[in-house]
Amino acid sequence: MTETYDLIAIGGGSGGLSAAERAARYGARAAVIETGKLGGTCVNLGCVPKKIMWYGASIAHTLHDAPAYGFSLKRDGFDWGRLVAERNRYVANINNWYHTYLADSSIDEIQGHARFIDNRTLEVNGVEYRANHIVIAPGSYPVVPEIEGAELGITSDGFFALQQQPGRVAVVGSGYIAVELAGMLNALGSEVTMFLRGEHLLRRFDSMLRESLMEEMLNDGVNIISSSAIDRVERADDGTLGLYCAASGQLQGGFDQLIWAIGRNPNSDNLGLENCAVERDSQGYIRVDEFQNTAIPGIYALGDVTDAPQLTPVAIAAARRLSDRLFGGMADRRLDHSLVPSVVFSHPPIATVGLTEDEARASHGEAVKVYQTRFTPMYHAFTERQSQVAMKLVCVGAQERVVGCHVIGFGADEMLQGFAVAIRMGATKRDFDDTIAIHPTGAEELVTMR
Ligand code: FAD
Ligand code: NDP
Repeated sequence: MTETYDLIAIGGGSGGLSAAERAARYGARAAVIETGKLGGTCVNLGCVPKKIMWYGASIAHTLHDAPAYGFSLKRDGFDWGRLVAERNRYVANINNWYHTYLADSSIDEIQGHARFIDNRTLEVNGVEYRANHIVIAPGSYPVVPEIEGAELGITSDGFFALQQQPGRVAVVGSGYIAVELAGMLNALGSEVTMFLRGEHLLRRFDSMLRESLMEEMLNDGVNIISSSAIDRVERADDGTLGLYCAASGQLQGGFDQLIWAIGRNPNSDNLGLENCAVERDSQGYIRVDEFQNTAIPGIYALGDVTDAPQLTPVAIAAARRLSDRLFGGMADRRLDHSLVPSVVFSHPPIATVGLTEDEARASHGEAVKVYQTRFTPMYHAFTERQSQVAMKLVCVGAQERVVGCHVIGFGADEMLQGFAVAIRMGATKRDFDDTIAIHPTGAEELVTMR
């Protein structure tokens, strides 16, 4: 007999779990189909294990700074295996919690790979499941370039499988994952070289952020080679890897590990989409409207498989709003993609929301006013390791409405969430100025800028 549901989510990651959970709260009969581990990329191969490694790297920095604060420390190495084991245990606990949570919420968990048979029917391991509403949320996968020797490298998935710390690492890419992995490996003691095909790290970010990060990473000992697209990878007789760039004619060798961090593609192949005529764009992203509707009534898509920002809270928010709309009677509920805040867990961290200065000038011209500051945070007043904080507020119009806020440096990661609320509510520079500072903090500079 075919099981029938009100809603089935394809993918037990951030988006799929949230759609089913919110639907179940409204009394809908929901199921989640997951081919791998519950929690998806964020829990198993993304945000969560990454943040654990980032904390580890931050502790390495703190240990370096400690003597300046009077501590006499004898460092006796760093046990990568111990950190990885603790991290994996933590992630496994989250997995287990999800199994229990789904059972407690009467959401059926179906293990296996889902494929459409028709607009209302999915097949998993030879069994058919039907639903009035099907949410496609299978996420994305890391890209590996189609060049000779590419298979000698790993991706972020492989990074989380490393049982030993690599000594010399090449990181190819310039986005979120490249700067995060390079920063933490460097802080933990690996020798890291980044290969950028262009000039900049984080090309789409505000210029202040990308320039400051480049400076900070170089000061911290990361080797950054720009304008260096890799055309071939080869293994030398001693087992190390060499990366060849045709444009410069250079072969950089001696790497123990190579990490590709050049973007992620949507997981939209092998879903049987041809059987339900759901449309994809030229890059494979599933086309949806602002309500997550595909062209086929009753079929929706959200998260990394669409061209929305590839962030966990974006997938979760889209999913919850969709279920509010389908089962909660909120006909207009949808996710507004403007002003999505985000943090890059680089060393130092970056926090950003809204328009970059260049974007604001392109759309608001002369009406843009920018406030900017750069300072040494008190924490680093007398540490040997130095790191700066840089902040920028991008304002527009006579009222100087704040349309962009960008911060890099100590504490930026925990600084922005509240400011993002204010900016979403339409805060002006005057509102920032009228807010009493919290002293002594780094964040107070955001309300005292002249
Ligand atoms: P996923 O969470 O990937 O879930 C999709 C699930 O679907 C997977 O479990 C997959 O196994 C399953 N699946 C795929 N196909 C099928 C099928 N046919 N049938 C059944 N199941 C299927 N975002 C942040 O906001 N903050 C961060 O700090 C952050 N760090 C990251 C670090 C890394 C290294 C990576 C790779 C990503 C990071 N992200 C971060 C991005 C975040 O993880 C994703 O945006 C988010 O997980 C997307 O959610 P999703 O539900 O669309 O997909
Ligand atoms: P990103 O899109 O952030 O960056 C990938 C970058 O790699 C591109 O911008 C491009 O930069 C460069 N690139 C692309 N192709 C090549 C190539 N062939 N050779 C060299 N460089 C190349 O992708 P990531 O893989 O870093 O991360 C995927 C997504 O996951 C992110 O966009 C983000 O949404 C999410 N994520 C979020 C995190 C967070 O919230 N903290 C952390 C990690 C991931 P250019 O064009 O300048 O060369």
